[in-house]
Amino acid sequence: MVKILVIEDDELIRETLLQLLESQSYRVIVAQNGRVGIQMALSEVPDLILCDVQMPEQDGYEVLRTLRQNSLAATIPFIFLTAQGAKADFRRGMELGADDYLTKPFTKAELLGAISSRILKRQTITQPLTEALQQAEARLNDLVNDSTTASIVCPEKLALEALLRRALAQGEFQVYYQPQVDFASGQIIGAEALVRWQNPDRGIISPAEFIPLAEETGLIIPIGEWVLLSACAQAASWLAAGFSPFKISVNLSARQLSDPQLKARIVQILETTGLEPANLELEMTESALVENAAVAGATLNELKALGIRIAIDDFGTGFATLGYLKQFAFDSLKIDRIFVRNANEDAKNAAITTAVILLGHSLNMTVVAEGVETEAELAFLRENQCDIMQGYLFSRPEPAPIFESLLVADKRLLGSSLATVSTRVIPFVPLSDREKSKNLSISGLGLA
Ligand code: C2E
Ligand code: MG
Ligand code: MG
Repeated sequence: MVKILVIEDDELIRETLLQLLESQSYRVIVAQNGRVGIQMALSEVPDLILCDVQMPEQDGYEVLRTLRQNSLAATIPFIFLTAQGAKADFRRGMELGADDYLTKPFTKAELLGAISSRILKRQTITQPLTEALQQAEARLNDLVNDSTTASIVCPEKLALEALLRRALAQGEFQVYYQPQVDFASGQIIGAEALVRWQNPDRGIISPAEFIPLAEETGLIIPIGEWVLLSACAQAASWLAAGFSPFKISVNLSARQLSDPQLKARIVQILETTGLEPANLELEMTESALVENAAVAGATLNELKALGIRIAIDDFGTGFATLGYLKQFAFDSLKIDRIFVRNANEDAKNAAITTAVILLGHSLNMTVVAEGVETEAELAFLRENQCDIMQGYLFSRPEPAPIFESLLVADKRLLGSSLATVSTRVIPFVPLSDREKSKNLSISGLGLA
């Protein structure tokens, strides 16, 4: 189904367009201002965008300029809707890369005509790519089913790479959120964003399966950018809804760390989503740092200077030496789950975990335990003054709506175990106001 994003600050016009386009069997998503529109364009990757020109804060020109600079949204057909019919305005829109310009009032036929011609043109342009992807997919299936070709790696990789590209273009990635819980207050004080690939044929594919290839091919750059944007937008919306304190942790791979554009991309994402740098934490493994230590170190310092927090992930499992803790000023240290597992009864794990907590604290770092699965591990970590826990015991990584229900229910650690506190009233603002006003009047817009 063709997906259309409508960016319009006037609620009546927005709802009218929504009803009209839905009646024509388009899938419609709506944004009430330019900032939300940019976020939705990048997270949903629609087939076409209808955008009002005059909006407060970020106007339609600003929206288009931002999207045309972004690899994910640069080619989405973009139609301006405006009350200004002046030639100069028209030219300005076209120079920025708009595909069409409809001056209000326009007729229903004009609107639908403009939409269908743009969608037809896009389908013609993307057709060869779709065919190539279908061939690659068929090739991948052949390889998977044919045991004699098991040793041939490259064609399979090429096919998987093509599938990854398509996944990105068609919005098959999703971000899951796993709570991080503060031992002192028992509350959820943040989340780690973990990417998932929802493949139409194979279901959910874990990052362990596709991140290494994405790294190798460089696709981790646009995928990582998309994860960062989605996670920052989501965190900003939870903070705006009153869930505070809240910090979002996002994983960065080696390739992203040596990308000279990384800082600029992150600054742009923070500006677009309105998230404060202090609410963002970037996780990197020792191995990612070792791979390109000089560039990664410089990038890391620049990001820290912006006020972003930096965490060392899977601590103790990589190739780094303790010298890295001296060289880089990390804010958090995440103890890998191989050391947390059974730390309450495994003497070696107990020794390593307690030593790492002490080390982290003496270097002024917040210590996070990963992969906490049992009440006994939880009690051990609490006793040894670990700061934050993350693990299946509290919650698995979940899609945003399920994670949000944990926030709303105020699920927390109480005493030595888990509890849901239902008495706390949270000033909750729903993420989308799309549902509430579907039955508005559709008169007075000049849509005939
Ligand atoms: P990580 O950053 O160390 O993330 C924690 C992993 O541990 C997640 O696996 C999470 O689902 C899993 N986990 C959490 N609690 C438990 C537990 O109690 N028990 C067990 N057995 N596992 C637990 P996931 O989501 O499969 O991610 C695997 C790795 O893939 C991540 O390890 C991270 O290195 C990478 N990754 C995930 N998302 C991204 C991303 O957006 N960008 C990059 N560059 N890497 C990512
Ligand atoms: Mg991590
Ligand atoms: Mg980890």
